[in-house]
Amino acid sequence: MGKPFSSEDSFLVRDPLGQLGVVQEVEPGVRPVDLLPTGYYADNMVRCCFCAQRQTHRRGYFAVLPDGSLALCGNCCAIKIAGKETVAAIDRRRERAASGLKRKEIAERVTGGLVELMQELEDGPLQAEAAIRQALGMLRDVFDYSGHIPDATISLGAGGIKSILRAAAIDNLSEKDVPGLMQKRAKAIPIIKAGVEMLPERRRLISFDAVWEILKTANAKKGWGVEWDGRVIEYRKTELDFVPYSLCIEPIHIDLRQVKAVLASM
Ligand SMILES: [Zn+2]
Repeated sequence: MGKPFSSEDSFLVRDPLGQLGVVQEVEPGVRPVDLLPTGYYADNMVRCCFCAQRQTHRRGYFAVLPDGSLALCGNCCAIKIAGKETVAAIDRRRERAASGLKRKEIAERVTGGLVELMQELEDGPLQAEAAIRQALGMLRDVFDYSGHIPDATISLGAGGIKSILRAAAIDNLSEKDVPGLMQKRAKAIPIIKAGVEMLPERRRLISFDAVWEILKTANAKKGWGVEWDGRVIEYRKTELDFVPYSLCIEPIHIDLRQVKAVLASM
């Protein structure tokens, strides 16, 4: 006798009549031999196949017939077939499945589009923002750059998104968590949008010319010999530095079209 259904906790049968092996009618006199461990929670009212009144119900049970086919069965008849305890176990399993489904729906509502957004951010903007800040930090430490080092705006917003994704993955996520998470989401997305908008301007802070300006200023002050090829800064603090010190500032290529498209849809 095949058991066509998964009995996993997260599996909820909502269309019992559409399941494999389910018959609509049972010949008079045919008695069920068992119940499947997985019940159903029908989207629409269905009828019991066994009692005279054909009890209508939504939460029901699959009765196994002697030929292995299945018939829908309401609560009273289910207890007659398999006893209260078995029916209660099926009920518990069905409720777990229903709450799992509910949790999944809530999670999808609060996280819609966020995984895709994180992917787009990690593929470019987050790295670019970190690289700009790191380069300017090095220029500050070595060449006394005293200008603007931008905040980690995108990273800040992405932190909010990550915390929403973490919260949505926990087992006891419930409807009452939704307002807080939606609020967090509504706060994080504009921060990310602003950070992405500012990224091209921030990248100009480490453009070839901008870095040369910083180096020339430092050079004038310190009298170091500095060279800059757009990738590597080599400098000698005195003429005795036979081997120059070097710093690397990788050019940053950013294509923000994709991430902007994702953000625009939020
Ligand atoms: Zn019945």
